[in-house]
Amino acid sequence: MKEFLISQSAEQLTQWCENEGFPKFRARQLLQWIREKLLIEPEKMLNLPETLRQKVKEHFFAPSMSVAEVASSADGVSKLLLELHDGEHIEMAIIPAGDGRVTFCLSTQVGCPVGCRFCASGKNGLKRNLLTGEILEEFLLGCQYLGKRCDNIVFMGIGEGLLNCNELFPALEMLTAPEGFALAPRRITVSTSGYVPGMLKFAGLQKEYNLAVSLHAPDEETRSKIIPDTLRFPIQEILSAVDNYREKAGRMVTLEYTLLAGINDSDAQAEALGRLAYAHHAKVNLIPYNSTGTTFRRPSRERIESFERAARATGAVVTRRIERGSGKNAACGQLRIKAEEKLS
Ligand code: SF4
Repeated sequence: MKEFLISQSAEQLTQWCENEGFPKFRARQLLQWIREKLLIEPEKMLNLPETLRQKVKEHFFAPSMSVAEVASSADGVSKLLLELHDGEHIEMAIIPAGDGRVTFCLSTQVGCPVGCRFCASGKNGLKRNLLTGEILEEFLLGCQYLGKRCDNIVFMGIGEGLLNCNELFPALEMLTAPEGFALAPRRITVSTSGYVPGMLKFAGLQKEYNLAVSLHAPDEETRSKIIPDTLRFPIQEILSAVDNYREKAGRMVTLEYTLLAGINDSDAQAEALGRLAYAHHAKVNLIPYNSTGTTFRRPSRERIESFERAARATGAVVTRRIERGSGKNAACGQLRIKAEEKLS
């Protein structure tokens, strides 16, 4: 398989240029196009000789994927359905905030092996991991669509990112390296369903990335109704890994909590959640469920408000995710599921 132009280091590109008989400074020019001008299509690199552009095209994926569909909602959120080189699809979202900042929500896998029962992305299991170059190209295609760099990145799209550490971590390194895309680690959040071995590895990086853990329930019995057994870790182990992350990375962890009517939305559960968060110095982020055609329902507004009050009364820091990207394709993974259905 071809290599990815976007994930080449300066040393690798210099070596490649030399091997192909081009002077070293051509590698520098290539890197400028990629990292400063956010372009990887060789045909657009007009200060390079035609022979070099041709060679780059032959040797590298530049890019390996294309935008197959865009779905935009009234509040300014755009979702890009991306078609990969092998015909698979993933999604990324571009989420503008009121203050002019823009967040990208990126995927880490094609499908997801965790299979949370309320999620469209886990419906058909895992197809494959995304490669480092593909994760970086998602970012780049998003920048090209937006016309500038994003301010924040959250890895909360399709997949369990911490089951793909080998490809995700080098992508994080390239996104944050001063000679790479130079984003501050604090502007990047990785989300996990509570995959403890991955959380420990992530903490081992000792970088100031943010970690968000999808807890969804304060007790095992409720959690088992939401996340299947295969990749579900005990809550106590997850919370120890949360403590470990805070100590190693120096960042407060966020506990994500999708509110599902009649499942995990009682005041007693809110209090239990608040107590856990408080004890582990974690923040709670409440996410009222966005239907993906499952049997789960979103709680009423009154129930959501009551839950929030009860959790906050424990002293925990509680926020509620502002609903963005509403509309028929709003929930993560729905564009991809539709694309798969069309193909089958
Ligand atoms: S919610 Fe996240 S971890 Fe769970 S199935 Fe969906 S993509 Fe996977």
